[in-house]
Amino acid sequence: MIDLHLHLDGSLAPKTIIRLAEMSGVSLPSGNEDELLKYISTDINCEDLNEYLKCFDIPLSVLQSEETLEFAAYSLCKELKERNMIYAEIRFAPQLHTKEGLTQDKVVEAVISGIKKSGFFANVILCCMRGDKNDAENIETVNTAKRFLGKGVAAVDLAGAEGLFKTENFKNLFMLASSLGIPFTIHAGEADGAESVRCAVEYGAKRIGHGIRAIEDEELMEELKERNIFLELCPTSNIQTKAVAGIEQYPIVKFMEKGIKVTVNTDNMVVSGTDIENEFNLIKSNFNIDKKELIKNSVNAAFISEAEKEDLFSQID
Ligand SMILES: [Zn+2]
Repeated sequence: MIDLHLHLDGSLAPKTIIRLAEMSGVSLPSGNEDELLKYISTDINCEDLNEYLKCFDIPLSVLQSEETLEFAAYSLCKELKERNMIYAEIRFAPQLHTKEGLTQDKVVEAVISGIKKSGFFANVILCCMRGDKNDAENIETVNTAKRFLGKGVAAVDLAGAEGLFKTENFKNLFMLASSLGIPFTIHAGEADGAESVRCAVEYGAKRIGHGIRAIEDEELMEELKERNIFLELCPTSNIQTKAVAGIEQYPIVKFMEKGIKVTVNTDNMVVSGTDIENEFNLIKSNFNIDKKELIKNSVNAAFISEAEKEDLFSQID
């Protein structure tokens, strides 16, 4: 299986975070795995995306050195390998890991190094962050992506509080990414409406993170189909953040009937308490959808070369 929408900080097991805290001298609210899990995971009682995002504070606090970043990436990739996954695109925001003086370049180098040491096939997606005081940091992220493009970095993204900081405010950033030839996906249509997805499409996003709210706009759905833009659906996460009311209302079949290509992903294995197997089971038990078709969509949507795609296709068959 493949996961194209997987956040590093939201997918670290409690035991990994405990080890990272020891490495970095950070004190945790609990050294017990089960207890710690309560602080770094959400559930169905989550209010919205803003509350969901609070779960990332602890993982971020222990990911401020090259040593911990490398170990975190290594540990996550080892786990994905053990789950028999064949590829993943792991995302994180370099600017959130510079509190103790690391440059964004050093952050990215450390994560790529951890992935390589694991022997698992993965690339990273660098997230810019929604906000109104971090323009310089976001531009630096895009420039860092350019330096590492094809050397472990596959694309850039925009993450964070979509309801508070609209996609329309980030046009210049994605014009820059386009001019540098960096492919991108954008979290859109999760906490904000269809117009957010429309912005992402206009900027030239190849994929949309979630994109759930595109369901509200027929014309937009036609455009997603025409432009062959893939949606990175994350069912459990979308239900937790209230992007949809429940699995019964999940629009995956409607999107597919409209001819839109969808992929199934986890978003955050630990924050959302899920894994890719669980996400497919959730889809399978509620809808009549061919799992293989979804996995093939993931291969086609991946930010990798045609030769790498061929290799993944051969592993699926
Ligand atoms: Zn996400």
